[in-house]
Amino acid sequence: MGAAIALAALLGSTPPVLAMPTTIGPIGTVTLVQARVQLGMRAFVTGVPRCQADAKLCFGLVVHVVEVDGAPVVDPVWFFAQVDAANRLFDAIDVAFESIEVRRENAERAHIASRSDRDRLGRGEHDKGVVHVWIVRRLADVDIDGAEIRGVHWRDRADLSRRFVILSSIAGDRTLAHELGHFFGLPHSRYPVSIMNKTPRDDPPWELRGFHRDELSRMRRDRDEMVADGTLVQRKQRRGRPRRR
Ligand SMILES: [Zn+2]
Repeated sequence: MGAAIALAALLGSTPPVLAMPTTIGPIGTVTLVQARVQLGMRAFVTGVPRCQADAKLCFGLVVHVVEVDGAPVVDPVWFFAQVDAANRLFDAIDVAFESIEVRRENAERAHIASRSDRDRLGRGEHDKGVVHVWIVRRLADVDIDGAEIRGVHWRDRADLSRRFVILSSIAGDRTLAHELGHFFGLPHSRYPVSIMNKTPRDDPPWELRGFHRDELSRMRRDRDEMVADGTLVQRKQRRGRPRRR
């Protein structure tokens, strides 16, 4: 249970394993290995950052995790880093994300090789109002034979209103934030400060990068449009006094 211990260290709290109900499946049929996998899967919800109480807008993530040979293709700690980075960078537009549900996905989806493979993800089980995030082992670059990419924001070509994020297991910590940037209307950019700029560079240093102010304006506009048309639904109302600006 290395993941649970690492998560507990990160969260400064009880390992998720201790918070689990005692019945995990049909009693007597669940093996220890299966139990561990299920606990691990649950940590994709319980073990990642929540929206802070003062988050003006909190949006839900539905996380689809591919399992191969009974184990998720990434560790929940890996996803913790993704959500944490996204929340730090989206704070500039008063947006935070939290994982609300994890869905286990079949190993057939471990390698997303083509545009059609991407299109098929989530057909018939796509909820509006949340961001669906798919975590797969390998995501092919559909433009370059043999190459792979870290993540993509994708629209189902048969239903362009159905948009979602796909993350590969090789994604860096800010890949989710970058793809959510696309979800919030951003194209790639040339701003040195921006994580939407894919040109290799040394300046500014990695830790000082985020979104350019012009990008933040665009994201605020798209945020408001997505809330208005129901693409995103706010998770909870802010309590207490409004935050002064
Ligand atoms: Zn991109």
